[in-house]
Amino acid sequence: MTTNVSRPASLAGASTPSAPFGTDVTWTNWGGNQSATPAFTVRPGSEQEALDAVRFAIREGLPVRAVGSGHSSSPLVQTGGVLMDMSGLSAITGTDRVGRRARALAGTTINAFGDALWDKGLALSNQGDIDKQQIAGALATSTHGSGKDLGSFSSKLRWVKLINGSGEIVEIGEGQLRELRAAQVALGTLGIFLEVELAVEDRYYLQEEITYPTWAETAETWQSDIDSNRHYSFLWCPEDDSCELLDLPGSPDYRMGGRSYTKKYNIVDVQDERQISGVEGARLDRSYRIYPGGFTTQFHELEYFVRSEDGLAAVEAIQDLIRSRYPEQKYPVEVRWVKADDAYMSQFQGRDSTVITLTTQPGTDYWQFFRDADAVLQEFEPRAHWGKIHFMTRARLERLYPELDTFMQVRREFDPRGMFLNDHTRALVG
Ligand SMILES: Cc1cc2nc3c(=O)[nH]c(=O)nc-3n(C[C@H](O)[C@H](O)[C@H](O)COP(=O)(O)OP(=O)(O)OC[C@H]3O[C@@H](n4cnc5c(N)ncnc54)[C@H](O)[C@@H]3O)c2cc1C
Repeated sequence: MTTNVSRPASLAGASTPSAPFGTDVTWTNWGGNQSATPAFTVRPGSEQEALDAVRFAIREGLPVRAVGSGHSSSPLVQTGGVLMDMSGLSAITGTDRVGRRARALAGTTINAFGDALWDKGLALSNQGDIDKQQIAGALATSTHGSGKDLGSFSSKLRWVKLINGSGEIVEIGEGQLRELRAAQVALGTLGIFLEVELAVEDRYYLQEEITYPTWAETAETWQSDIDSNRHYSFLWCPEDDSCELLDLPGSPDYRMGGRSYTKKYNIVDVQDERQISGVEGARLDRSYRIYPGGFTTQFHELEYFVRSEDGLAAVEAIQDLIRSRYPEQKYPVEVRWVKADDAYMSQFQGRDSTVITLTTQPGTDYWQFFRDADAVLQEFEPRAHWGKIHFMTRARLERLYPELDTFMQVRREFDPRGMFLNDHTRALVG
């Protein structure tokens, strides 16, 4: 059951949205591979303006999609109806030091949590390769960092306030587990998120260690590296110049071809911030300053998730594919780990996972490489990152997501007319 916070007496109203809007605005994502020209692009600056925009769309019979920071490279955001740019709804709205919780408006970027939570003695449990995403965008696709005991952002969602497909503001909390597990990873199909509450941690400092092992060494210490570090991840470099393609400083001592650039972050006790160090490869800092910030160059990615017990075999299968058929694919292959969770549409639902990310150059024809990677990984029953290029179909979801039907039931309860679907999401979960 959901709780009504406000219910429209009538859906009648103005003939245009109350928020600033444009009618001929072409939207393009960060990677430049997705674009759309919606009938209306609305940037609400308040809950009421967001509500007015959804009610306007209901009246006009238009579909609605939200856009966060536009960092997804799959066709999640496109709509010919109303596109809601959520960047005007950005603020940390509350913290609970004892209960370790933080509330934020949906358009708050991950970066904006850093100082604000630290000042209250708190921090996000984990972060990914960038901090530019809006929190609702990150939740919609189960955005993650790395660490075998660390779940995705979605695994931390404890409460959400959203606008549903009837033009009502509703809340979902921990007392409504069925709905909460749908909301944790919803691909933007449950409605427009306005505000969220996340489980967070006491603030912590991280010590960074960067190493450059050969592949044989990486494989030999596979499990001990996963087990003995809070965050462990690596980027395997097919060629000497692979690191440079992602602006990573390679090793000062080794040629990187065939080696891994490994990142290990562990919690350390810091009594005095004069201990903080910015030395490359051995930084020591507040957690949110250790996690990466962003990239200056564009790229396109496919990211698949296999059970962690299959991780090494799956990575070696991808290495074989690159060496034997795609030697021109020089970007590092990134490998990470994420803890299992319960969200119905989470890539990590019921599975501790190894994450394999393939990066390619915009403007090149990488489709056959991605299709072959998809085929090579099939024996490991991979799931895919919703925000990156993938080849998932409804039939595949039916095999891979045991709670798909429950998710779709909840989706229909929140949005009976399907106004929050676009072509891509309709095919997957409509
Ligand atoms: C350079 C780069 C680095 C990345 N690094 C990582 C990483 O380390 N780990 C990882 O897991 N992923 C990573 N990603 C993927 C990225 O985290 C996801 O694609 C994420 O969903 C993007 O967030 P966003 O705010 O840009 O959302 P968008 O891409 O704008 O939207 C994503 C989805 O969220 C929905 N949405 C947005 N706001 C709302 C709202 N208020 N209410 C309802 N639905 C909403 C949209 O409709 C859409 O379906 C990376 C992507 C890039 C380009």
